This record gives sequence, structure tokens and C-alpha cells, in this order.
Amino acid sequence: MLEKMEKFDQEKVIAEFEAITKDAEKVQRETLKKILEENGSAEYLQNLGLNGRTDPESFKSCVPLVTHKELETYIQRIADGDSSPILTGKPITTISLSSGTTQGKPKFVPFNDELMETTMQIYRTSFAFRNREFPIGNGKALQLIYSSKQFKTKGGLAAGTATTNVYRNFQYKQTMKAIQSQSCSPDEVIFGPDFHQSLYCHLLCGLIFRNEVQLVSSTFAHSIIHAFRTFEQVWEELCTDIRDGVLSSRITVPTIRTAMSRLLKPDPHLAELIYNKCSGLSNWYRLIPELFPNAKYIYGIMTGSMEPYLKKLRHYAGELPLLSADYGSSEGWIGANVNPQLPPKLATYAVLPHIGYFEFIPLRVDIEDQDHNKMDRSFLCMEPKPVGLTEVKIGEEYEIILTNGAGGRLNPASQKEKAREHIRSNHVPIGCLYRYRLGDVVKVMGFHNSSPELKFVCRSNLLLTINIDKNTEKDLQLAVEEAGKLLGEEKLEVVDFTSHVDTSTEPGHYVIFWEISGEANEEVLKECCNCLDKSFVDAGYVSSRKVNTIGPLELRVVWRGTFQKILDHYLGLGAAVSQFKTPRCVGQANNNVLQILCGNVAKSYSSTAF
Ligand code: AMP
Repeated sequence: MLEKMEKFDQEKVIAEFEAITKDAEKVQRETLKKILEENGSAEYLQNLGLNGRTDPESFKSCVPLVTHKELETYIQRIADGDSSPILTGKPITTISLSSGTTQGKPKFVPFNDELMETTMQIYRTSFAFRNREFPIGNGKALQLIYSSKQFKTKGGLAAGTATTNVYRNFQYKQTMKAIQSQSCSPDEVIFGPDFHQSLYCHLLCGLIFRNEVQLVSSTFAHSIIHAFRTFEQVWEELCTDIRDGVLSSRITVPTIRTAMSRLLKPDPHLAELIYNKCSGLSNWYRLIPELFPNAKYIYGIMTGSMEPYLKKLRHYAGELPLLSADYGSSEGWIGANVNPQLPPKLATYAVLPHIGYFEFIPLRVDIEDQDHNKMDRSFLCMEPKPVGLTEVKIGEEYEIILTNGAGGRLNPASQKEKAREHIRSNHVPIGCLYRYRLGDVVKVMGFHNSSPELKFVCRSNLLLTINIDKNTEKDLQLAVEEAGKLLGEEKLEVVDFTSHVDTSTEPGHYVIFWEISGEANEEVLKECCNCLDKSFVDAGYVSSRKVNTIGPLELRVVWRGTFQKILDHYLGLGAAVSQFKTPRCVGQANNNVLQILCGNVAKSYSSTAF
């Protein structure tokens, strides 16, 4: 049984990682060679005149940098059922749907077993390092994970979000078992057709297995926050279900009901215990360790657009460590968190040099602005000249370029591994995107051996710009964080936020939408609005505001539940909660979301800061 999972050997996994990062440049060359050899027959590469060359220099001179847009027609042909070698030597059988929350609509991306293999490698690698620092016992994980709708493309290929493709894969379960992170929820809950019902049952399963739960996790931290905010609403109902051993009538999906009935037995003692614990909490502080006394940590992606949720997560977590999960995308993986002891705000991701070929476009650094601790990432030098993985410099920011994905073990040690590697590389398409601009900005924080450790900075596209102003997702995040402090003094918080550039007025202005946890008084909100306006320190913005070529910033407070409506809207488009990231800027093109926001405004304020 070649597929059978070997027992997890933590030290071996760490040793393998140390070995592949020792000479990352060599590994990168070999990886590129492997990708190009495997896909030499692909139409895309044939047309570029590589003629069998596999060295980085030829690759860079023949193959252009692309974005998803340039590949759309190729990917569409694959989705429509053209099985000729288009992007890969071997056919693609599955399509992933990216979350699409940044651009407004989900993108199709090829998925293959190769990506599955690298996913498992990343999971194993970060687990090995994590478990060395924060060992977990044998038990279960409260995994707040969900599947998206699965469908077939016109050409009959299976399509779903990348996370769903992963969760459905046999290897996923095997790996989770090996790394002691099996979900306490049955498959019927994870793959349930209704996210709200799945969430309720995840919470119920967590409570039923509360003593066994070793960790609470999700893909992105947003799902954890969302789950425990929901817990605040439904906890009494959960207690009733446990006391009586009868599942709430809110669960209507028959498969979920059947699966849950196998787990749910009347347990008045447990119900009372949970009831008392919840009643005794002050504003739900330390909710997670109270519910799950043996949990060792909380795990999920906590960097980038997840940072605004950290404060709330810390509140629920009390003293439990918050460990950020790895860095990747539907298009491919990039790095693993091998320094789990770092707090989420400082989390870095060490690139695995054999899972893809990586290039980095240096972003111009505006020296003058450095005093204000602000880089001008405006962008890419006129002629983007990417550098290689080992040529990046500590402290600099780059846009990341991906050629995916090799993976597999470079030096299979045992006969068994050699056999598996042989089978894998003969049957599995390798690679599919070449010199692909992922759209992420990263900062190099250091090196693990010779492979860089990256900090995620932000998406590279500008969020807010009217004329000479340039503000990124990160800038918006910082402004909201600053203004949110004023709410904090009132014991209130920003539940979620987004922005919009309103050019229907003359001059145009920024609009920030906030959902707040309670009623804030007028004066505080006016101050918040001014503070937001002042917190965009980009020189272009400040000077435009001073001369009124950009109008006063507008803060629009939306009704509670508005961001839930946005989430529901994306789920309807086929997105999965597991990959959901609140869009931080909503343009005119994203009309449906804009309508949800504008239709739910409770109050609005105009800045008087300038
Ligand atoms: P998706 O489109 O759903 O595949 O999401 C992929 C994107 O999520 C990446 O391109 C990043 O922008 C973001 N992302 C993934 N992992 C991380 C991470 N560890 N930290 C911050 N952002 C991340």
C-alpha cells in the first residue's frame, strides 16, 4: 500500500527541511529543471521558444511575467475540456476557485495532485516545528473548516475552492491523523451544504469532545472569530442540545442530523458545566480555554488581512498561544511558519525551495518617507527586474512571482519513498503557472539557512487612489487600527471594515465602512472619522486633502450583520468560508457588495480634519 501514511517522524521532517534549505539556489535550479522537463510539451511553453532549455537564464529571457488575466484563455480551455497539453505536460483534472475577494470575483486556477502533495508537505513541515515548541497530545482538533459548493466545469472537470479540494483528498485525512490534528466533526458537518448549520455543529462537536480538543484551528483567523461570535449568540441552545441529547431544529440537513445523532447523547452534567462556565465569563474573555481546557494553542493564518481580528482573537484566547499558519494561495504554496514562537504580528514564512521556482520584484523604497516608517510600494520599478530566491535582501519588500510547483522529496531516502516518488512523478502533472504574479507584497526578514523568511505585507494592488494618493490594504488597516483605539476607550470595537473610492462627488473622496460591536456616541464617531482621515499619511493623500483635490473622508457606520450579508453573498458565488477574506476595498465593478454596504448605512460622518 504505497499510499499508506508512514508514522510522523518530527525530527526527520525537520532534518529534511534543514537539508533542502542549505543550498536553496541549487535546489531552485533543480526544481525549475524538473518543472520545465515535465512540461516541455505544453503548448504554452512550446510557443515561447524554450526549445528544451531548463536553466533559469533561458527561462527568464523566454517566458514573460504574467497575471491571471493573460492566462485566462488557457485556463478556460482546460475548464472547457480541452485535454491537450496546454499549460502542463499531463492533463489537469481539477480546477480550484480562488476566494476572489480581492478582485470581486473568484478566479479559476488549475489544481493537481502536485499541489496536494506540496500542501501536505507544508502542513507536515510547520507541524514538526510547531510541535517541537508546543507539543500536543493525542486528541482532536476543533477545525472550523468548511467546504464550498462543488461543481463540474463545462468540460466536466471537478471544480471547487482549493481548500475544499484539499479537505476532500484522501491524503488530507491521512496527514491530519499523522499530525494528531483530526477534526472532531464528522465529514457530513465539514462538507455540509449550509455553512451556518455546519458552524453550529462544529461548535457542538467541539463541546462534546471538549476534553480531547488539543487545538482550535481554521484556515484563516476570520473563521475562528466568526465561530466564537456565533457562539455568543447560540451558546444556550447548544447547552440545551447537550442536556437533552436532541439536536436543535435549526439543523435541517438530513445527513448532518444523522451524523450528529451518532455523537449527541443526553449529558446534563456537561450541559450544566458549560452553562456555568459561560455565565461566569466577563464579556467572553478567555472563552476558548474555558471551553477547551486541554487546548494548547490556536492555529490559523493570522497575518495580512487577518491582523485586524487579532485583538478579538486574543480576547477569546486569554493566555493561549496564537500561532499563525502557513503562506500560500490557490495558485501554490510559498512558505511554512517554522518559527511558531514568534507572535502573529511578527510571523514569517520560510520558503520551501523545492515546491516551486520563486522570483521577487524589488519594490522601490522611498528613502524620504522612511522616517515616517512608510515605504512607497507604489510600485514596481518601471521595468520589473525580478531577482532569485537567494538574491533577496533582508529588510526589503518584493512582489512575489511564482512558477509552481514541484514538491515531492528531492532525495528519497528509502526504497519505499523512491517507489512513491517514481509513481508520483509519472502520473502527476507538475507545474502549471509560469512566472505568475501572485499579487502579494512580502518583506524579507531573514534567512533560514539560505532560504528567505518572508513576512506578508499586503496585496500589491492599490486599494485607494483618486489622483496622486496611493494607499494599500496595509495603509487602510493601520488607519482603522488607529481610529479603532478611540472606540476601544468606549469598550467598543470594529467588527469588520472595508472601503470605497467615491468619485461621484467632486472632488472624489474615500469612504470607510465600519460595523461596530455596539452603539457609539456621536462625538466619538466624529473623532474616529477625523482620525481615519489623518491616519492616511501617504504624502500624495495629505497634500491632496490640504488643497481639497480629495474631499473629506466619510465614515459610514453600517448595521450589525452587514458583513455577514457580504459573506453570504460570496458563499452564493461559490466561495468557501475557509478561504474568506473580507474585501478591503469595494469598487463600482463589485456592484452587489457595494449595494449591500450602501443599503445598510446607519449613520455617516464627514471628516473635518483638514
Ligand atoms: P486565495 O485567493 O483564497 O487562494 O488566497 C490566497 C491569498 O491569501 C494570498 O495570495 C495572500 O494574499 C493571502 N494569504 C495566504 N496566506 C497568507 C498568510 N499566511 N498571511 C497573509 N496572507 C495570506
